[in-house]
Amino acid sequence: MIYGGIEAGGTKWVCAIGDGPGNLRETVTFPTTTPTETIGHAAGFFTRAEGLAAVGVGSFGPIDVRRSSPTWGSITTTPKAGWAHTDVVSALGLALGLPVAFDTDVNAAALGEQRWGAAIGLETFCYVTVGTGIGGGGLSNGRLLHGLLHPEVGHMRIPHDRVRDPFEGACPYHGDCFEGLASGEAIRQRWGRPAEELDDPAVWELEAEYLALGLVNLVCTLSPQRIILGGGVMKQPLLLGLVRARVRELLAGYVAAPELNEEIDTYVVAPALGDHAGVLGAIELARRAALDPDL
Ligand code: ZN
Repeated sequence: MIYGGIEAGGTKWVCAIGDGPGNLRETVTFPTTTPTETIGHAAGFFTRAEGLAAVGVGSFGPIDVRRSSPTWGSITTTPKAGWAHTDVVSALGLALGLPVAFDTDVNAAALGEQRWGAAIGLETFCYVTVGTGIGGGGLSNGRLLHGLLHPEVGHMRIPHDRVRDPFEGACPYHGDCFEGLASGEAIRQRWGRPAEELDDPAVWELEAEYLALGLVNLVCTLSPQRIILGGGVMKQPLLLGLVRARVRELLAGYVAAPELNEEIDTYVVAPALGDHAGVLGAIELARRAALDPDL
């Protein structure tokens, strides 16, 4: 069986055909323009493939993942122009005549990491991506994290020391939420230059402080067995080590697990699938949908 996967981002869509990291037969990347054009582009790519069993979509959001909802399969209140209330699943399903699975981009990436990457064998873990925005998802007891809607890890409130960091935050809804303080966009606005051009240690110590505060909240609420930390901002080589050290300090030995103390280097980790986690996870979503369309 082969499957189609879409990592549907707000900037670009990555589409792939295959059944795993060792067999990605064809991939294509194109910019996210209008819904009609972008979904049409993806449908055209998959139409040319023969023998697909299903297509999976890991989407930017917020999205409707409630299977009982009449608008399941839609992007909902996104501020991205033209995309609010776009029914992605119906459009693709009509064009392709195939089952279409749908979840958040970060839940898809988490699923990819569980199947082939840094979370093999784990039932409860988080995947957090720090890029232009911050997103987080994962699995709890073997099931993708859904609830009322889906987690909005990027919009957690975290402590903000306005003496150390007077920047008011970049989130249009909350100002200084987690994403408002620690996303790539927040870094760019605070320091006046994009993250990849900044090498002042003060930049990365402050970033590590915010990321560690966010991760500690996840540790304390969800008790993940591991946290995978990806996204463009994490490509700064010093950052992962700074975050690990600060997570350990902030927890102060309270959670009595070696993973949060001497084994912290194997607890907060980079994605093993790198930039392919999202699209591979979408392929895994498709595989699961082909086995059980009600999943
Ligand atoms: Zn926010």
